[in-house]
Amino acid sequence: MEYKFQAEVKQVLDIVINSLYTDKEIFVRELVSNASDASEKERFSKLSSGATSEELNIKITTDEKAGTFSIEDAGIGMTSKELIENLGTIAHSGSKAFVNALKENKGNLTDGLIGQFGVGFYSVFMVADKVDVYTKSENGEGLHWACDGSENFTIEDFNKSERGTKIVATLKPDYKEFASKDRIKAILSRYSSFVEFPILVDGEKLETKQAIWLKSKSELTKEQYEDFYKFFTHSYTNPLDYLHFKTDAPLEMNALIYVPSENPELMGFGKSESQVALYCKKVLIDPSPKNLFPEWMRFAKGLIDSSDIPLNISRESMQDSGLTMKLGKVVLKKFIKHLLDVAKKDADKYTEFFKKFGHFIKEGSATDFENRKDLSKLLRFQSSLFADGSYVSLEDYVSRMKDSQKSIYYAVGIDRNAIEASPYIEAFTARGIEVLYMYDGIDTFLMGNLINFEEKNFESVDSANVKLDDIPQEQKNALPSEKVETLKTWIKETLGSDKVKEIVSQGRLIDSPVAVLNTDSITPQMRAMLKAMNPDAPLPKPVVNFEINPSSDVIKNLDNLRNSSPELAKLVLEQLFDNAMLSAGLLESTTAMSKRLNEILAKIKA
Ligand code: ADP
Ligand code: MG
Repeated sequence: MEYKFQAEVKQVLDIVINSLYTDKEIFVRELVSNASDASEKERFSKLSSGATSEELNIKITTDEKAGTFSIEDAGIGMTSKELIENLGTIAHSGSKAFVNALKENKGNLTDGLIGQFGVGFYSVFMVADKVDVYTKSENGEGLHWACDGSENFTIEDFNKSERGTKIVATLKPDYKEFASKDRIKAILSRYSSFVEFPILVDGEKLETKQAIWLKSKSELTKEQYEDFYKFFTHSYTNPLDYLHFKTDAPLEMNALIYVPSENPELMGFGKSESQVALYCKKVLIDPSPKNLFPEWMRFAKGLIDSSDIPLNISRESMQDSGLTMKLGKVVLKKFIKHLLDVAKKDADKYTEFFKKFGHFIKEGSATDFENRKDLSKLLRFQSSLFADGSYVSLEDYVSRMKDSQKSIYYAVGIDRNAIEASPYIEAFTARGIEVLYMYDGIDTFLMGNLINFEEKNFESVDSANVKLDDIPQEQKNALPSEKVETLKTWIKETLGSDKVKEIVSQGRLIDSPVAVLNTDSITPQMRAMLKAMNPDAPLPKPVVNFEINPSSDVIKNLDNLRNSSPELAKLVLEQLFDNAMLSAGLLESTTAMSKRLNEILAKIKA
């Protein structure tokens, strides 16, 4: 008997046949997913009626000679009423939304918009010019539905003995590739390796993996999580950590997120790409969706399976749909909370994670405003308090801050030795103030963006803004204050105001004779970066204060030398200044320094 498609179906068919997806191969996953759904329903009805269900295979056959692709399941099948309803009208949600959008836009749908809606079964018409559906429900008669993509379809009786549905697609001349076993196997292994039911292609059973992410945590062993990770990421090593959870609201999803064992970016490979895939009921929607997570999460691997994703949505439109972002947000919050938990419960494990992946946390703290507060709790730094290089958190630091201390102090350098050899740390150590050590290129960027933590500002130890309390005990044998003042005037005149802004003797230095304090908004690290980026562009001269230590023998000697041998004193002062600039990372060239040193040495009389 001949039937007319509902007008809307005809519309959908026309669009599907003419444009819709560029990925023609997705019809395979649509048909497999329908076969899987039908098998799932059959299994459920058997199970709920107390019967045991036999193994429900999905059989795919390819026939290159005839140019056909067939798929057969032993699922619930369809009655003739169901055939008309399911394959002749727009009854299911994906296509319905599609048709509604079509109406709203008076038939003018741009390609991008079209892709936002699933058209499921009809996608087979992208590659087939004739489709035959043979079906039989448990207690119904065998039926044959047929359509050549026109506005009509036929339903005839058909002698079918087994329950289930067989779909035969006679491929268009341009798409005969889908009658190739290898091509189909490749498509299946990409999209359907986690389908619950065994899939046979021309009698050969495909290797399928169980969808472990849909099981409950208590059913799974660590080993199963690890095996799946290795399978999923094609890796030989076990993951460092994983998070598996299920939510029902605001979105239904199962998520399994892994932290890999290694960070390829640390090993000199290029920027990682996020590999957290999106699935809808075990069917792969997108292996690496953009907009799922912020950039800094690019180290994570795993998947999110949500039945709220329209199954047959195109990747491009999934990315635009906002749903990806919503899913990502929920998962990200949980993941960050998980890391906070690990940090609290297993500090060693967290430190191991941070050593490998800390720079992503830093990047996130600097750039991800929405999660900054929690991410900054996940930061770890070495500190002046622990010579063994233990990591401390900002919360630890703040809890140890002195009442009078306003800021969180940090020092930047290439390593611990370099930082501790500079003249800056001693003032803090002498006052019992902790300083965080930063060796990482991204640290200054982080400090510049983070600005504060629990309302405490970050302040670099070399900043002229740093005001420290006086040290309780008297500085011994210091140069008397009148002498200090005249010395300071002489230094200012001798160095010149283009080199220094102010000469100070605030008592910050303990052992070192001098230090320069940065008064610039440009940090020394930013300077180095700007210079590396554009070596020829001249940078404004650094603006610094010069601090002298009146208790230091060097300064006392300098004051004497100024009277006895003014010329030598000038050279020594310039040398001290360049030395301090060098320590601060602000000296542009050391040529003048070595030349001057020779001059000084020549003036020394035995
Ligand atoms: P969706 O799967 O999103 O519902 P489809 O266009 O893929 O939409 O399928 C339309 C309907 O046709 C399905 O909901 C189902 O009722 C029916 N159907 C499709 N394939 C099969 C099958 N192999 N066995 C039984 N019913 C099927
Ligand atoms: Mg479907």
